[in-house]
Amino acid sequence: MQSLNLKSALARILIFPALALLLSACQPDSQSDADADRVAASDAASSGQEQEQEQRMEPAETGSLIVYTSRQPHLVEALFQSFEAESGIPIEFISDDAAALIERLAAEGQNSPADVLITVDAGNLWQAADRNLLQAVDSDTLRARIPASMRDPDDLWFGLSIRARTLVYHPDRVNAAELSSYAALADRKWQGRLCLRTSRKVYNQSLVAMMIERLGQQRTEEIVSGWVENLATNPFSSDTRLIEAIAAGQCDVGIVNSYYLGRLQQQDPDYPVKLFWANQDSSGVHINISGAGVTRHANRPAAAVQLIEWLAGDQAQKIIAASNLEFPVVKDVELDPVVDRWGDFVPDSINLRVAGTRQAEAVKLMDRAGWR
Ligand code: FE
Repeated sequence: MQSLNLKSALARILIFPALALLLSACQPDSQSDADADRVAASDAASSGQEQEQEQRMEPAETGSLIVYTSRQPHLVEALFQSFEAESGIPIEFISDDAAALIERLAAEGQNSPADVLITVDAGNLWQAADRNLLQAVDSDTLRARIPASMRDPDDLWFGLSIRARTLVYHPDRVNAAELSSYAALADRKWQGRLCLRTSRKVYNQSLVAMMIERLGQQRTEEIVSGWVENLATNPFSSDTRLIEAIAAGQCDVGIVNSYYLGRLQQQDPDYPVKLFWANQDSSGVHINISGAGVTRHANRPAAAVQLIEWLAGDQAQKIIAASNLEFPVVKDVELDPVVDRWGDFVPDSINLRVAGTRQAEAVKLMDRAGWR
């Protein structure tokens, strides 16, 4: 496995169009025909004659599988190494933030060397799909293993881990019995006691998008305006800073992704901030995903699907869940002890595509409410 530096990545991008040209000169089919072949290839009922023809039509998949990932290298390296060892397929990857990778895919178009996009937040995956940068994957394995709400209804992206965005509090100043829902944090009793992260962060945009879907625009705006009025201080640039502010007494309660608290609790089991599962009597905890999709112009689409299916396997799911203290998308996979201690929760079951389709609406609503 190799993490591409910018120079070698650029070299690849320069090399690839030439390579693609060379390949297309050898192959009888255009890119769109290749797409049709992939659909045909998934039809297990093909006759022998059709199969023979397909073998001739299918472009040879050679070379490394190229992954664009917004996940930090330390979270994916072990996974990629295991996949390489098991499949014999070498992986090269480029890491950058999600927006940059999506722009890059769009700019590269059909000359993109990328086969797989891995990123966090359904809002980002939806963006990539909405810009026609991903292709549909017909996989019974992925449909069977990943709950329907955590994958795109058109099979353009698939959740690989679950991140829960929920309430955290200081047990000396808040009794868990006082907590219930995200909405309840708009109550006047929390005036000057609430901390939030910036509304610029996609995590909060996705949370508000899902609230709009559940509660409607007007009710959501009331709640978000209530939160803003209850703020103890300006919104934070990170969930970790927010949790530290609660620990330091700057505020009493906040909304964060659970793994940020997990990291602090891993270092110090007595860390003075606790987690509370929100909305257990109503819609469930707001969850999001990290996930993956096969790029529109993948050179190795079959290997790309193989990687995503492998990432949804038990072994990879355990590594994924442990490495960032997230939750596996697949049931009955062992949790990290820190995560296990938080106990079970009911997640919101709305399809995460809403995080994308209502993202612009959510951003405007947060703006109107004065959430900076
Ligand atoms: Fe994060």
